[in-house]
Amino acid sequence: MAMEAEASSLLDSLSAVVVHGTPPLSVKWFSAERHGAELLVALNGRDRRFGVDSIGTDAAVLNTYAVIERFHPDVVVSAGTAGGWRRSGGEIGDVYVSDRHVVHHDRRIDLPGFSEYGIGRYPVLSLQNMAAQLGLKIGIVTTGNSLDESEPDRRMIMASGAVVKDMEAASVAYVCLQMSTPFVAVKAVTDLVDDHTPTAEQFNTNLTMASRRLSEELLRVIDWLIPRELAQLD
Ligand code: SAH
Repeated sequence: MAMEAEASSLLDSLSAVVVHGTPPLSVKWFSAERHGAELLVALNGRDRRFGVDSIGTDAAVLNTYAVIERFHPDVVVSAGTAGGWRRSGGEIGDVYVSDRHVVHHDRRIDLPGFSEYGIGRYPVLSLQNMAAQLGLKIGIVTTGNSLDESEPDRRMIMASGAVVKDMEAASVAYVCLQMSTPFVAVKAVTDLVDDHTPTAEQFNTNLTMASRRLSEELLRVIDWLIPRELAQLD
């Protein structure tokens, strides 16, 4: 997870306790036990220079790699808030589960072979049955390092068919693919990209509510995953 505010409701519900991180990285790790399973909540932590949460792809890659190296998790979940679109039926507070693959929308490399490399198209666990049972929306998640959506971004997003926009999922999935670790994203919508209200304003208004929704649905997802063999999911 990227932001402390996104995680606080989940950490409370899990009665999670601090785990020693991996200095000098700013990561903040917490552990909890649930129905016999060991959970690790790994936040990217605060940027030492800028004093804000370490959002975006770089910090997500570092944290994901450090966690997989240390804990060898059965599954990694990129959890957080995200933008949705009215045109895809998105509503504030919706919780989406990633489907098919995750992509990047701001890595445009018009050279042979590199276009596809830039987009990434990393695999995600196939959890359509789970989403149907839990009443969660599913769709392609797209990642970029900006909160806004530029015109070139918009064109990439239209082409990929993505319905959820964040700043971390594809980079976490990239590390998971390198490390052969199953991956899924669970994202709660704080803002609608195609609404006339500026994204940052929507984000600030809805962050608390969306983080609570994220925590509620993430716990249902975790409870669904715990008793299942990963082999059953793929
Ligand atoms: N203004 C906020 C910064 C939040 S940045 C602050 O000062 O606290 C947005 C974070 O939420 C990122 O981690 C990203 O993954 C997610 N996010 C929410 N809505 C998004 C959107 N429309 N586009 C991209 N990322 C979004």
